[in-house]
Amino acid sequence: MPPTKRVVKKSMPSKSVAPAPRAKTSTRNATPKTPVAVQVAPITPDEARTQLRALAMNLWWSWNEIAQRPFAALDPVLWHATKHSPLSVLAYSGPATLSAACEEPGFRTALINARAALTAAMESKSWWDQTCAAQHPHACIAYFCSEYAIHESVQQYSGGLGVLAGDHLKSASDLGIPLVAVGLYYRHGYYLQQFGADGSTKVLYPVYDRGTMPIVDTGVVIECLIGGTSGGNHSGSSLVRAKVLRMDVGRTKVYLLDADLAENRPEDRALTEGLYKGEPHLRMRQQVLLGVGGMLALRALGITPSKIHLNEGHAAFAALEMLSEFRAKGMSHADAVQSVRARTVFTTHTPVAAGHDRYGMDMLCHELAWVLAKGGISRLELESLAREHPEDAKEPACMTVLCLRLAAKVNAVAKLHGEVSRQMWKSVYGVKRAKVSATDVPIEHVTNGIHTATWLDPRAKTFWNSACGFDPCANTPRNRGWKRAINADPAAFWQLRATLRGSLVRFARERLARASQRRGEDPSGINASATMLDPDALTIGFARRFATYKRAPLIFHDLARLAKIVDNAKRPVQFVFAGKAHPRDLGGQEHAQQVFEMTRHPSLRGKVVLIEEYDMEVGRALVSGCDVWLNNPIRPHEASGTSGMKAPPHGGLNCSILDGWWPEGFKDSGVDGTGAIANGWCIGSAVDEGFNEADAHGAAVARDTRDATKLYALLEKQIVPEFYDRGRDELPRKWIKRALTSAATIPDFFSTHRMVSEYTQRCYLA
Ligand SMILES: *Cc1c(COP(=O)(O)O)cnc(C)c1O
Repeated sequence: MPPTKRVVKKSMPSKSVAPAPRAKTSTRNATPKTPVAVQVAPITPDEARTQLRALAMNLWWSWNEIAQRPFAALDPVLWHATKHSPLSVLAYSGPATLSAACEEPGFRTALINARAALTAAMESKSWWDQTCAAQHPHACIAYFCSEYAIHESVQQYSGGLGVLAGDHLKSASDLGIPLVAVGLYYRHGYYLQQFGADGSTKVLYPVYDRGTMPIVDTGVVIECLIGGTSGGNHSGSSLVRAKVLRMDVGRTKVYLLDADLAENRPEDRALTEGLYKGEPHLRMRQQVLLGVGGMLALRALGITPSKIHLNEGHAAFAALEMLSEFRAKGMSHADAVQSVRARTVFTTHTPVAAGHDRYGMDMLCHELAWVLAKGGISRLELESLAREHPEDAKEPACMTVLCLRLAAKVNAVAKLHGEVSRQMWKSVYGVKRAKVSATDVPIEHVTNGIHTATWLDPRAKTFWNSACGFDPCANTPRNRGWKRAINADPAAFWQLRATLRGSLVRFARERLARASQRRGEDPSGINASATMLDPDALTIGFARRFATYKRAPLIFHDLARLAKIVDNAKRPVQFVFAGKAHPRDLGGQEHAQQVFEMTRHPSLRGKVVLIEEYDMEVGRALVSGCDVWLNNPIRPHEASGTSGMKAPPHGGLNCSILDGWWPEGFKDSGVDGTGAIANGWCIGSAVDEGFNEADAHGAAVARDTRDATKLYALLEKQIVPEFYDRGRDELPRKWIKRALTSAATIPDFFSTHRMVSEYTQRCYLA
């Protein structure tokens, strides 16, 4: 069905098509009422189903609420119960439901508006069209990553890396950048997290129905030989076949390889069973499929990238496959390496040594035998690329080193992380000096960001639009409109905060009751969930992977001192936690358990809660509802961190160690005439610690004590008093000014629109 042109009064402000000007409507109601007087053309249930399916198949809906509305309208209960999965809602909605919906003008209007908005977004002239397209008609960037977090209903991610990659793709779509993405399709996703009655982590592997995800089979199957070949005898090797699936993320196409084919050996089908699952050997073979198989898939699809972007070292073999190709064409090793470098961009994501994959050289040579043989690459040549010190026979191969040697453009994910990375990898560049610069060690940084439209609550979006007259989700690299946030009416802003905090409290209570019920706790425990948390209390959030360096339990360091802060009837403070640890990270699971136990502590009960199954939905609820976002990693182990960037667009404030992105984000006073007040708080200072790896146990305890003490002092002397210091109008004026300064100074820069445009100018087109 071609879209029929119908004249419909624009009653629902379309999200990105026509930003509403300074409207006088109520700021609390994000969903305007359906017009009654306007005639909306009839539609048959079959037509509606076809149109809904077309909408559902492009994940553009995941960051454009206008395209979610018809599904929410079709069956609000299902919409909630299916984790907001349009295809699931459609699958469960029978003919009667669709017929009834088609009778509703509200539903019909929502459908027409959604379709019109999608078409307009796909066809609009983008930033790329206007600024780069003419000079770079053949640009095509192939982005490689092991995980993509697009939406909670597409469970193909574990945490921050996937979220960053997903946000990258959405910004590429919004800005019109010619980018395709490559990854793997995991049939068990990452894992489903539940807490046992004792707070232990239960790891569940549900089988997901790909039919409920907007993923199509391209019909292309690639064949990738993984394992040794010696003299034509393929012993120990196998021909792995993988289907090439496609997921449309707005204008960005994502190609995912799926090795779950009947003709593959069971151990090869396991390659795409789960994300970060299995032994190092399996992990390495998975990475061969991602890198080498990914390049083969692009070729099979007729896509010739002008650049490849390796997002983290997992996809290093894509560059090796390219090298092999150049060598096969007769290039010398040195020339081929130069040609690969000129076409490769690499982003490194962790300053923690253990976070970099290392594999035995023998295993690597065995699994890559086919790739090496195709290009006549010798073991010595591979060693020279994959080892820090190629002559050290004992040194394993390192995926990061391989990337560093095969990419001319290398970047870290924040300024501080750039400094740490240059120190970490200077030997790869033959530098021994203590002090290094980006000239000696060519690792720069492109600071991470977030995709604002994905994370911004629609009510906050409407608020900025109507209260300050700017579109917070404008599709431009920078959004200077945010500066106007400082002008927001304090009372209206405080009302927004109350609304968002209230929603979080309701969300948390529902999740806590559900978990309590599942654990079979007695009814009093379940009922207690209904009164946990106070919608008016200062709410502090902490949600991220439970990696031990992030120190989730730090706030419990001195329980008596914390209890005094929390348990103050006049100035109550509450904490909402969420997070997942890797199934093999027992230290991380212990942190989760410690937090869980604290939620049961008599002096903290009902005021400290832990929500299980941290995902994008839980993340959205927390970052929008919390007044303060807490971040207390061991400096400088947080490469960037992005969860803290999601709070300021909601008027939330960061309280963070000066690690990751925060040294760039924190402004201690007076920014651009927005008033002499800081845009958040920092725990300690930048000189507290050098760049040494975790010290001995005693030193670690001393460090935790020092940081916890500083955090308590901040809470007692600044954060809590400022939140509760109310004027006669009941408004905490200073707090509001700080929060508006945070909104005015952070979201403009810390967005993936800015980040992706920076990658484009500095790496993709350079
Ligand atoms: C934003 C986000 C992250 C990243 O959190 P960090 O601050 O980088 O640790 C991880 N997981 C989810 C679900 C997120 O939304």
